[in-house]
Amino acid sequence: MIDPPTNASLFERAQRRIPGGVNSPVRAFRSVGGTPYFVARAEGAHVWDVEGRRYLDYVQSYGASILGHAHPRVVEAVRAAAVDGTTYGAPTEGEVLLAEELCARVAGLEMVRLVSSGTEAAMSALRVARGATGRAKVVKFAGCYHGHSDALLAAGGSGVADQGLVDSAGVTPAAVADTVVAPYNRVPDLDDEVAVVMVEPVAANMGLVPPAPGFLEGLRAACDRVGALLCFDEVITGFRLGRGGASARLGVQPDLWCFGKVIGGGLPLGAFGGRRDVMEQLAPLGPVYQAGTLSGNPLATAAGLAVLAELDAAAYTMLDGRAGELATMLGDVIADAGLPVQVPRLGPLVGVFFAHAPVNDYDDAQVAAGNGIYRRFFRAMLDRGVALAPGPYEAVFPSLAHGRNDLERTADLAAAAAAEVAGAMGPEGEGQATWQPLQPSTVASRPLA
Ligand SMILES: *Cc1c(COP(=O)(O)O)cnc(C)c1O
Repeated sequence: MIDPPTNASLFERAQRRIPGGVNSPVRAFRSVGGTPYFVARAEGAHVWDVEGRRYLDYVQSYGASILGHAHPRVVEAVRAAAVDGTTYGAPTEGEVLLAEELCARVAGLEMVRLVSSGTEAAMSALRVARGATGRAKVVKFAGCYHGHSDALLAAGGSGVADQGLVDSAGVTPAAVADTVVAPYNRVPDLDDEVAVVMVEPVAANMGLVPPAPGFLEGLRAACDRVGALLCFDEVITGFRLGRGGASARLGVQPDLWCFGKVIGGGLPLGAFGGRRDVMEQLAPLGPVYQAGTLSGNPLATAAGLAVLAELDAAAYTMLDGRAGELATMLGDVIADAGLPVQVPRLGPLVGVFFAHAPVNDYDDAQVAAGNGIYRRFFRAMLDRGVALAPGPYEAVFPSLAHGRNDLERTADLAAAAAAEVAGAMGPEGEGQATWQPLQPSTVASRPLA
């Protein structure tokens, strides 16, 4: 008889054939220690690993599963689509319906093109912005992640930061020659060489960092002054912060948007879009080339439409309320245990920083992430059956499947986890040295040459 796989046995095999044993570095446990749990199945707010252990899941595919896992309507939509064939190389009704639905929800979004990931969306938005303006430079912000295309990877937050990388090897100086990195929450000076300013309107890949009052308005005005385009990367915020995403909620309208995560309902789907005159620069209408064999895939559009159908005003009110309760309870129980903590929240988005003061940019985030507390708290929570992201630069993602009892359980377990961490790190504790914050990287906010 063959032994059933365990987390350890699968990880051992994975490492032999997959670099680091994972197909995306954010899934590795390198910064938190231990062996990743291999998921066998998931339902609602929970995932089960291959050993049958259940976790209350706040990863939710980094925000892709806003309804929770395996929502019956999404499962049924995918099942129904699959029997009709999974890809054709010809257009489908589902693509039209999804494009119409996205544009109906987001004010100012006039045309979209569907792609297969957030990376592709951001990469393609940058290309069409450059093509439409005839300019080269892109301004991005330290700690904002726009996927892993060469030009946008600099000071990328999320997994890049968690691997201790400022940039990536294999990205040539030429590839980032037109990329300028500025500190988040400060409006940079722009000139007339800037094609596009790319920003996460609520930064959610360096923990959660809401925009400072006036930041997004300032970017809008600065772009208008020099004729640059403004692009909101709403791969996380889109259809999560509300029906119209961050632009509607925060009242600033960009020229271009990037979407992903929520709109695919757990299948590979992204989109970029915006002003009609800009989007009409794309082939086959215009000179900017962009394409994809699986773009607008029928399973993905079916899943996306099924998710959006559930996201009405009541759903957003509920998600906001749940996130608010979670944030308040987490902040209270962790502070009661004597740990320094900040729990920023904007609508349904929640972050946890082990820091004494609010985090406003990537330098602050790196200090908070570098003190070693997150790693301990993560492990103490995982031991108790609560899955947070295995790195300090990720947001917390409650879904619509997280009920009040789940949140209360989370708070109870977080209280015990925080007490354990505080005990281990007390004045006599062996972890005392790690209370000293690391120096923030000075490289992070330098403009690239
Ligand atoms: C996740 C993410 C991306 C990249 O999306 P992928 O589907 O992982 O390629 C881009 N931008 C933001 C803001 C993201 O959070």
